[in-house]
Amino acid sequence: MIKTKGYAAMAAKAALGPFSFDRRERRENDVVIDIKYCGICHSAIHQVRDERGGSIFPMVPGHEIAGVVASIGGKVTKFKAGDKVGVGCFVDSCRKCPECRSGIEQYCGEGLVLTYNGREHDGTPTFGGYSESIVVDENYVLRMPDDLPLAACAPLLCAGITLYSPLMHWQAGPGKKVAIIGLGGLGHMGVKLAHALGAETTVLSQSLKKQSDGKRLGADHFHATSDPQTFARLQRYFDLIINTVSAEMDWNQYLGLLKVDGSMVVVGAPEKQIPIGAFPLIMGRRSLAGSAIGGIQETQEMLDFCGKRNVVSDIEITPIQKVNEAYERVLKSDVRYRFVIDMASLKAS
Ligand code: NAP
Ligand code: ZN
Ligand code: ZN
Repeated sequence: MIKTKGYAAMAAKAALGPFSFDRRERRENDVVIDIKYCGICHSAIHQVRDERGGSIFPMVPGHEIAGVVASIGGKVTKFKAGDKVGVGCFVDSCRKCPECRSGIEQYCGEGLVLTYNGREHDGTPTFGGYSESIVVDENYVLRMPDDLPLAACAPLLCAGITLYSPLMHWQAGPGKKVAIIGLGGLGHMGVKLAHALGAETTVLSQSLKKQSDGKRLGADHFHATSDPQTFARLQRYFDLIINTVSAEMDWNQYLGLLKVDGSMVVVGAPEKQIPIGAFPLIMGRRSLAGSAIGGIQETQEMLDFCGKRNVVSDIEITPIQKVNEAYERVLKSDVRYRFVIDMASLKAS
């Protein structure tokens, strides 16, 4: 076993604190990664607070993991010591089901192994990236863009792919009008990626406070959803709306902003059921859909795209000792636009 230092929540809603645990010994297909940076995703807050039930404690969160290969098992062919690598939201899957076989492992129905708050096939709980190292099968490890700063690339591994995948699936590009609801960790990546793909990109934010940021990130338009005029003005305007918000909102109002045949895609995860009327869907042949992260192949494609197009996350680096404060600030939408933990700070704990 490999002794590993990290930060964990010991129970639901508990503050995170220093925690020591064991990683498995390296197997022949494994890559041992020294973690340099890990992004703070809002999902971690939902899970640490056990908002959806079933959380496993102690919990070491973190699924936007960027680091450097420390060593490789004897059968590893894709990576070597010193490579810049990443790990996203899952570290294994069944590898046999139709979804795994077609490269959409995130929808594996048999045995997706989440990076944290999950269980390996043998039942061992998984621990995530708020830690000094991780051991992962090479088939679930990503190659990070060589020429971009590693810290700012960490959030691509969840926030980036969660927006890239639906943007690609619903064919965002030139001639398409795309709206992103919520300018947070996911939303700001959505703006950058939709813009890079050539779509006309609009931010729908609670207020106009982030307007100048939105424009800088690549948005063509920016509207406040607190202003009723926004909904009157933008009726039947968008081909695609991606909703990154996890708070309660009037979904029917947003469906009215879609053109005929437009789609609204849910990626934010509200705690409560969402009330949807039939008529906003019927009167416009509109679709309401959901989307989860992306498969390994698509995540690599996204990282390569970001490498070529110079797309990174806007980050605020934090030491791990301030992770609980960072959570509070995420809850207040007070981060521009993703916290990334500098794992070198763990040495001081
Ligand atoms: P985040 O950084 O907190 O961003 C969420 C944004 O939602 C905020 O920046 C804010 O944008 C908006 N918002 C917050 N409170 C609101 C309210 N009361 N009413 C309306 N809008 C509000 O969170 P994130 O890390 O981007 O994650 C967003 C959600 O996606 C979470 O639920 C997370 O679990 C989920 N998620 C899903 C996937 C997936 O695969 N589907 C992957 C990762 C995360 P404005 O200030 O611009 O209004
Ligand atoms: Zn995430
Ligand atoms: Zn599978």
